[in-house]
Amino acid sequence: MTLGLDKNRMLINGQLARSSSHEVFQSINPATEEIIGAVPNGTHEDLDRAIRAARVAFDRSRWSEDREFRIRCIRQLKSGLDKYRDTLRDLTVQDVGSPISMTRHAQLDDPIESLEWVAKLAEGYGWERDLGVARPLGISSRRVVIKEPVGVVGAITPWNVPHQVNLAKVGPALAAGNTVVLKSAPETPLCASALAQIANEETEIPAGVLNIVTSARPELGAQLVGDPRVDMVSFTGSTLTGQKVMANAAGTLKKIFLELGGKSACVILDDADIEMATMVAAFTVCTHAGQGCAITTRLIAPRLIFDEVVEATRQYMARLPAQDPTLESTICGPVISDRQRRRIEGYLDLARKDGAIFVLGGDRPARPETGFFVEPTLLVGIDPRSRVVQEEIFGPVLVAYAHDGDQDAIDLANSTPYGLSASVWSSDLDRAMTVARGIRSGTVSVNGGLWYSPDVPFGGYKASGLGREGGIEGFEEYLETKAIASPG
Ligand code: NAD
Repeated sequence: MTLGLDKNRMLINGQLARSSSHEVFQSINPATEEIIGAVPNGTHEDLDRAIRAARVAFDRSRWSEDREFRIRCIRQLKSGLDKYRDTLRDLTVQDVGSPISMTRHAQLDDPIESLEWVAKLAEGYGWERDLGVARPLGISSRRVVIKEPVGVVGAITPWNVPHQVNLAKVGPALAAGNTVVLKSAPETPLCASALAQIANEETEIPAGVLNIVTSARPELGAQLVGDPRVDMVSFTGSTLTGQKVMANAAGTLKKIFLELGGKSACVILDDADIEMATMVAAFTVCTHAGQGCAITTRLIAPRLIFDEVVEATRQYMARLPAQDPTLESTICGPVISDRQRRRIEGYLDLARKDGAIFVLGGDRPARPETGFFVEPTLLVGIDPRSRVVQEEIFGPVLVAYAHDGDQDAIDLANSTPYGLSASVWSSDLDRAMTVARGIRSGTVSVNGGLWYSPDVPFGGYKASGLGREGGIEGFEEYLETKAIASPG
């Protein structure tokens, strides 16, 4: 079914709203550089109204107490998104530049399906735990532990997988009984405003419970974090912004949950299936032009077979060119913007200065002629301490370097500030599991096993974040714990 798009699609206090300044801003299709639509450019005043509405809805309505109603609303949201799935698929390809094949997984279909998982979790969740009677200080007391929503959640999201991140916050936060103000990424505003419209038109979610503010003003994120009426900030974005969020949240000492950047390692051991390992490594780094926080962007291979591994990876990467994301065969689409492409090119220049060897790529492809494309790039000959190896590039750039045995591989995998994800390849599962345990990251894939699923907690060690999204752990991020004792 087609979703009629208009320009009034922020959701504030139950109304589809214009910006108080009447301004709009545009979304640009990264594959064609064409303007594909416009949404309200939310102001400080708009965000203030959204926060006030969320506060009133939390403090003055029965939303936080009525679990059955909440779960019904989550299911209505899923049905509404289902109804407009085809429109959303086209919109996502255009707004995000996502390969259409990805919309059948992480970019659209999986996030929609995950709402049912969240609804079921909330239905069966143990909201109370009876600890029985004890006699602290000789006073006989019956103790019960109850789980309650945190309150008003400020959700701030990035552009690379907008539906995934928006729904991974909105779903569990609402199911847990919170009210939400979502400030979406300025680069992909149409995905967020479509969600606003569907939530408004297809669900009974009461006024103020879910507010969605689109804005090109970067200061709005900081305003949301610093506002004392907001009880918790659920943030996904870069580590640099995450640090600012953490510092800003200290002023009002609120709960923060941070999903940040990564520089994940693919570790190949000397007994691995090289064909399979390199095929997956190449596919992973090319997926969505490397714009995934958990994508493995460092290839750490045994010194004795290093050249063989690099050549096999090169061959697989060469079969995955950057191309039109509307083609079913596309794995590597454009990057989000010219700014992001220049940022990636800055790292490639740095690699050149550092004496890296470009085994593949390093430029803009000759075709397509328009769009923000970067060739899949494979680099060797770089010092593992260099910035290109240590910092998140967020493009289709894989850096390969050698290890001298399992412990060295673990040490190298752990040698960046990040700890989001990793993969390990070995024909000996016990050996692979030992290496997986040694890597300090929130998720590890062994021999191609996939952790990506709504019941799996996902998140980072070290500079990759605080807390977990998904799974029971992710749901519990949005809950407070209260202990009540009465004479027993
Ligand atoms: P970003 O940090 O630039 O922006 C993220 C969001 O924060 C945007 O909505 C932005 O407007 C807002 N923002 C900017 N300054 C702010 C401030 N001072 N206070 C509060 N909010 C502020 O990130 P991006 O470029 O949109 O996204 C790419 C990054 O996101 C990458 O680093 C990627 O690894 C990360 N990411 C992480 C995960 C994860 O689950 N760990 C998932 C997706 C993306």
